[in-house]
Amino acid sequence: MTRMEARQTDQGDESDGPESPPATDHARLQELLREHWGHDALRPLQQEAIEAVIGGRDVMLVLPTGGGKSLCYQLPALLLNRPSVVISPLVSLMKDQVDALQANGINADALHGLMDPEERSETIHRYMRGETSLLYLAPERLGSGSLLQILRKGNPALIAIDEAHCISQWGHDFRPDYRRLALIREGLPGVPVLACTATATPRVQEDVVDQLELKDPTCLVGSVDRPNLVFRMRPRAGGIGQISDILKQHVDEASIVYTLSRNDAERIAKGLRERGIDAAHYHAGMTANKRRSVHDKFRHDRLSVVVATVAFGMGIDRGDVRCVVHATMPRSLEHYQQEAGRAGRDGLEAECVLLHSAGDLVRWQKLMERSAGEALDRGVDQDEVERSLRSQQEQLRHMAGLCRTARCRHQAIAEYFGSESGHDPDAPEGCGACDTCLGEVRVMKDSTTVARMILSCVARVDQSFGAGHVAEVLSGGRGERVRRLGHDQLSTWGLLKAHGKSEVIELLEQCVAHGLLDRTPGDRPVLVLSPQGIEVLRGQADVDLVQPATRARRAAPTESAVNSADRSLFDALRNLRRELAAERTVPAYVIASDAVLRELARSRPSTIEAMGSIRGIGRKKMLELGPRLLAFLDEWCPANGLARDMVD
Ligand code: ADP
Ligand code: ZN
Repeated sequence: MTRMEARQTDQGDESDGPESPPATDHARLQELLREHWGHDALRPLQQEAIEAVIGGRDVMLVLPTGGGKSLCYQLPALLLNRPSVVISPLVSLMKDQVDALQANGINADALHGLMDPEERSETIHRYMRGETSLLYLAPERLGSGSLLQILRKGNPALIAIDEAHCISQWGHDFRPDYRRLALIREGLPGVPVLACTATATPRVQEDVVDQLELKDPTCLVGSVDRPNLVFRMRPRAGGIGQISDILKQHVDEASIVYTLSRNDAERIAKGLRERGIDAAHYHAGMTANKRRSVHDKFRHDRLSVVVATVAFGMGIDRGDVRCVVHATMPRSLEHYQQEAGRAGRDGLEAECVLLHSAGDLVRWQKLMERSAGEALDRGVDQDEVERSLRSQQEQLRHMAGLCRTARCRHQAIAEYFGSESGHDPDAPEGCGACDTCLGEVRVMKDSTTVARMILSCVARVDQSFGAGHVAEVLSGGRGERVRRLGHDQLSTWGLLKAHGKSEVIELLEQCVAHGLLDRTPGDRPVLVLSPQGIEVLRGQADVDLVQPATRARRAAPTESAVNSADRSLFDALRNLRRELAAERTVPAYVIASDAVLRELARSRPSTIEAMGSIRGIGRKKMLELGPRLLAFLDEWCPANGLARDMVD
């Protein structure tokens, strides 16, 4: 087995070891970077990855979503004037990448199963004639040995494997087609392989190295933390209203709501529409046409909110998703990282809110047990089934633990993946980007007393009622049922009146999460005391309950980054972007990222030259779009009394 020598680094240490790659032509690199991508400099790990592949080495590159992996295989093709071949799992992603590259003046092509033979042979001919800089391939194409021969004749600079974790069955996205990639080593000897993934687990990384037979690879592992994401985890209470409150902080911004079931997706999308939010559902039970239509609308910025099961996944490449809500707790931190990670790929702030309840844990447990049972029925080896069930339960526990922790979420997530938080851990105010550090979550001073009140109320109602009823009694409700049962006469009636019913439910759920209360199985679960609960009730143990500080939410994080004058111009520019994208039938992000629009709205350049200094716009795009953008600003700014050419 190949040992990973993962380097956890962000330092751009100049390679001066014995294997220094041939010196890169830095001036040319800089020029290409500016010309086609509009960036000023490479990020440290990009630099290392590019130098290594140019030096002919295999590279394992682990960077979080939005970390800039694609540049690492795109730039070498231009630098070396030889094609990069890119294996990518999804045809839709491939098409978008090709569109985006062409918009940046780069010859890109794709080969996949949905092309007719004529198109395919034209594409191959362009590649053979050396006209292609980037050739995207679906993994199943490699099944034919002849394609490997063709690829070899094109003298490729490198083979990049995007989403390389798909080759590992330890990963969460295992794709049997990816197994074919083992053929590359044999079919293209001597061509360096760049394996890219955002999956942080060392076991998967090692497996990728083994499966792809990477030779003494340079392993570059960036921090998994995404400092631009603001994490919030709160108990689920208040139904769809709670979700719509979150989304209303992101009006007209791209948002995704993840649900566990198809039913939930449909129900929540409907509820959101009733509350005036432009939402559509998406799940694997819909027809391919219907799914494509939702996907396209979202991609083209004609739909803001998608409520989806995890089926809405890898094809999402909008960089400007500003909010991801989990309506249910995911089954593992790996899944959470992946799904929440779809927010803020453009590097700007985005919010990730996870709503959880103890019921989620129960639901997952049942699902896991059921699928283990099914595996046994199919004749899978019992040891294997048990091992896998245990590891799933372990992952689930970690996820539930993260939801309940009173620690910094960034730090807790990074630690789980054996990485470091991208924020300064010693900063007195914490990361400033999670609910705990922002002071929205506090441990209640009198936690144990409150827990005892709850436990004692459960005992008083003879451990025969569900959470809703117990909460009503504790919060001093006098509903018909409470009165009929005489529960308004109990000594525990109204003990937590100050909190209101929904907060009491939150607290109750925490008691369940802490294992103080259990729910009976079945359709109408009732709360019963667990042995630990009895200990707390007797005063033999303490417990920490977390209290959401206030219901009032801060302004959405994106608000702070744009002042209001800029904001309306920014919105207008987004409309313009939508128009430009529609004219060219490309997704909006191919035209310009949010970051570019924000900078345009802030600095309001009055000449093409001034516009050219904005990061993220390459020269080709400037020549094509610059005049339209200028004309727009020329009209908008005087009409709204805004000055031009603002400096920082
Ligand atoms: P990944 O494939 O790792 O998810 P991408 O390659 O899509 O990430 O890049 C994410 C974002 O980072 C894009 O908006 C891209 O323009 C930006 N980016 C990449 N490299 C740089 C760089 N060197 N300087 C500035 N921005 C960059
Ligand atoms: Zn924090």
